[in-house]
Amino acid sequence: MPLSSVRSAVERLLLPAECVICHGLLNPRDAARIVCPLCRQRWRAVRPPWCERCGQPEPHFGPCRLCAEWPAPLTSVRSAVWLDDGARRAVHGLKYGGLPRIADDLAAAMGPIRPETDGPSVLIPIPLARKRLRERGYNQSEKLARALARQWRIPVLLDVLVRTRETPTQTALTPGTRLANVAGAFALRIDDCGLRIGNLPIKSVIRNPQFAMVLVDDVFTTGATLAEAARALEQAGAKRVLGVTFARAAIPDFT
Ligand SMILES: [Zn+2]
Ligand SMILES: [Zn+2]
Repeated sequence: MPLSSVRSAVERLLLPAECVICHGLLNPRDAARIVCPLCRQRWRAVRPPWCERCGQPEPHFGPCRLCAEWPAPLTSVRSAVWLDDGARRAVHGLKYGGLPRIADDLAAAMGPIRPETDGPSVLIPIPLARKRLRERGYNQSEKLARALARQWRIPVLLDVLVRTRETPTQTALTPGTRLANVAGAFALRIDDCGLRIGNLPIKSVIRNPQFAMVLVDDVFTTGATLAEAARALEQAGAKRVLGVTFARAAIPDFT
């Protein structure tokens, strides 16, 4: 039995069958879940009208300020739900609660934002800085990407997009400083990495305009992280980059 299945079996034994958000008892049918159906229904979907590019739902007069500076290959980013209390608790469970299995519930909520691509696509999780990865033991975006891969049946590309430096926590930063904060934080390791998708080496997958690279992150705030990751992909020759996140935070100082 692979370690991950042992871990989820143990997790299931140790956890009382209760919802991580409302602590209501889970009905045996939902015992494999972490979030009860009611709490999942309470997540508020992000809905159009939105900016076609960054998916930010606000009335636009003139060009969108949020995505104006994004690198050209990043053409579409969508988030499934608003980061309200319930969604925040779910993200918290994914990030700090030691409940990586919650990724399946989050991924299920992301069904409606599955990108429509006419060609093949690969999922690329936003990597964590090494120090944070050590502290947490896993990358929450990778858990989410793996859950999406199971549900959407598309491959995940791991260890290709990497963090080149630690970045301070983004929580308290304004949109402008967030962008500066992550500038140059990502790079691609594709030379001689030997990875292939089907019979294609990664380098040609990334440069192939038919292939969509779908970046995966847990929360979208200003899009600075996704934009910076897309910039690293662009430098490696990527033509088509999309992004999906479970939640979207309302930006307090952005009107
Ligand atoms: Zn609940
Ligand atoms: Zn926009």
